[in-house]
Amino acid sequence: MFSPFVMKLQYAMKFDIVDGKIRVLDKDQVMISPEILVEVQKEIENKLGEEGNKIIYNVAKKQGKDVLEYCKQITGFQKIKLQTLALDLVQTYGFGKFEVINLDWDNCSVILHVHNSIICKKYTEKFGHVNKPINYFLSGLLAGIYNVIFENNVECMENLCTASGNLYCEFIIKRGEK
Ligand SMILES: [Zn+2]
Repeated sequence: MFSPFVMKLQYAMKFDIVDGKIRVLDKDQVMISPEILVEVQKEIENKLGEEGNKIIYNVAKKQGKDVLEYCKQITGFQKIKLQTLALDLVQTYGFGKFEVINLDWDNCSVILHVHNSIICKKYTEKFGHVNKPINYFLSGLLAGIYNVIFENNVECMENLCTASGNLYCEFIIKRGEK
């Protein structure tokens, strides 16, 4: 069963799976198992440590920014409508269920709770519980997305994570150094 958001995309002919291609909002996509993502992350962590996590974060941040700039351009959405579109999209991609806890437009900050983060769950299944949050990819993606929503340079830090024993993952997005 598709979500109402995907039904809307389908109706607007912006969601298509045909001839070995997946297209969402006129961009090609691939469906990939979260196991591959966590295996790649673990290899990068083992080889490069914190530096590797920064690379994952920065690549995802650029991607989040590019995708949402494009969405903003084709829809003309801004602020709350753009945030709704962005969170519908990341939920559609399977990154979890997002809950906006504290949104402050004046200070360009927001706290998000993410339930059912499959990446954090897979990481724990494969490598056991760890003592710090692990979702650098989603942190970077959210940083890039909120750069466009807030029209400001913001960074994102995962504060609570199911991989370190919490019931949900919490991401804090605000201005400042990573
Ligand atoms: Zn997490």
